Amino acid sequence: MSFSTLGLSEPLLRALDECGYTEPTPIQRQAIPAVLGGGDLLAGAQTGTGKTAGFTLPILQLLSERAAAPASFPRGSAGPRRVIRALVLTPTRELAAQVEENVRTYGKYLSFRSMVMFGGVGIHPQIKQLRDGVDILVATPGRLLDHVSQRTIDLSRVEILVLDEADRMLDMGFIRDIRKILALLPPRRQNLLFSATFSDEIKALADSLLDEPDLIEVARRNATAETVAQRVLAVGRDRKRELLSHLIRQNDWCQVLVFTRTKHGANRLAEQLNKDGITAMAIHGNKSQGARTRALSEFKGGTLRVLVATDIAARGIDIAELPHVVNFELPNVPEDYVHRIGRTGRAGADGEALSLVCIDELKFLSDIERLIKRSLPRETVPGFELDPNDRPEPIELGGGRRINGGLGRGMPRPARQGGGAQDGRRPASTSGTGQDARRPASGGGHDGRRSASGGAAGHEGRRAPAGGPGARRSSRGGAADGHSRGGRGGNGGGGGGGGRRSYGRDD
Ligand code: AMP
Repeated sequence: MSFSTLGLSEPLLRALDECGYTEPTPIQRQAIPAVLGGGDLLAGAQTGTGKTAGFTLPILQLLSERAAAPASFPRGSAGPRRVIRALVLTPTRELAAQVEENVRTYGKYLSFRSMVMFGGVGIHPQIKQLRDGVDILVATPGRLLDHVSQRTIDLSRVEILVLDEADRMLDMGFIRDIRKILALLPPRRQNLLFSATFSDEIKALADSLLDEPDLIEVARRNATAETVAQRVLAVGRDRKRELLSHLIRQNDWCQVLVFTRTKHGANRLAEQLNKDGITAMAIHGNKSQGARTRALSEFKGGTLRVLVATDIAARGIDIAELPHVVNFELPNVPEDYVHRIGRTGRAGADGEALSLVCIDELKFLSDIERLIKRSLPRETVPGFELDPNDRPEPIELGGGRRINGGLGRGMPRPARQGGGAQDGRRPASTSGTGQDARRPASGGGHDGRRSASGGAAGHEGRRAPAGGPGARRSSRGGAADGHSRGGRGGNGGGGGGGGRRSYGRDD
């Protein structure tokens, strides 16, 4: 199937051609016609599926097909010739920047003006840009509300709203900000909601926001990408850094995204890797926007070998065909695992996600396995086995908080040491470092269970079933759209409806 069969116009097809995209991804095949149809959309798609083009292309087409509503200005005021007609909300600055870059790339042969808006940078250039006129705005919620409170933005003529990575926005405590923004939009508009996972909070948001949405799902709920081979290496808690350096060197990995649970842990690991002679930088919410952008561009450019990131900072990182993701520490929120490994195996490319798991993290591992509905084989690398005398210890989550994560299914012991403290399960393999251990995710679980991702891609778009997420007709002007609630609630500590996250907001 080609893009032209999806009904896209010539200027868009020309831009796509220049990107080298030959055919649409499954989410694009479904989302583009659905959005062009003009209705609301609820899309279950994780990053890496091509979802950004899935909403950007039809939005560009719709806006170019219809004239903007005439702007009304106070008498005597020139006012901007352009009004904001499409608003895309994203959880992080990086994702906002990437989405807006996509808007510019795909809209190259159209005459729209787009703008990216996020905090951590000066507000005045943004005010000037708004004054000059913007058609398509990609923004993070906090800075958008700063403009609202300064009365430097007019959202009254938005025709299309996109909530991108909505699950993450809720996790980050943005729900109140989102509801405040919704209250500023015209009630008649098209709403598109993209989310990798469907928690109850997402369903509630979809129910209140979307009007009889088309429902599209390309990776089954909470499934992990099919093209990502996932492996677990059991290792003593104090030997992780050594093992990571060993793997990077031995396999000659040159572009590795490594996750830690805390900002402090990211800094420390980056420092230690540099001492090992492996170029590394940390990226997290305490870093300035400049430092984050620099780290990302060096990493993308190939001069930086390792990027160490916290979960939230890594949202929206888009690197074509990122080959290796390493969970230096497992996330305590299992959904974060799905997001993390979604960084590799993007747009059909193969990737490998490796988790270094110590005895303190077994419960996190079993929570993840339950979520992704498959068992991940435990392996060991000779020389880096667990110490049989190790006992689980509580895990530091930053900010002085601790969690007990060591009560899960067992870990392999070195054969010669016998018995061991846990249930002494044998490693599935001891191949350790090689690519040969790669196993297609879709081929059924290692223990014979069905893979969560089997048959996931390419579901037909369909109407949301009655009672399903977003299926009810929304009461326009009611809950989400309604003129609700006072005070800005979000930023203080994951307040509001979202926050299953058990550690503080990172951005
Ligand atoms: P996304 O899921 O939107 O973050 O996209 C993931 C990556 O896939 C980005 O690097 C896109 O540039 C790329 N991409 C999007 N659509 C296509 C396509 N149809 N063919 C090849 N690559 C694509």
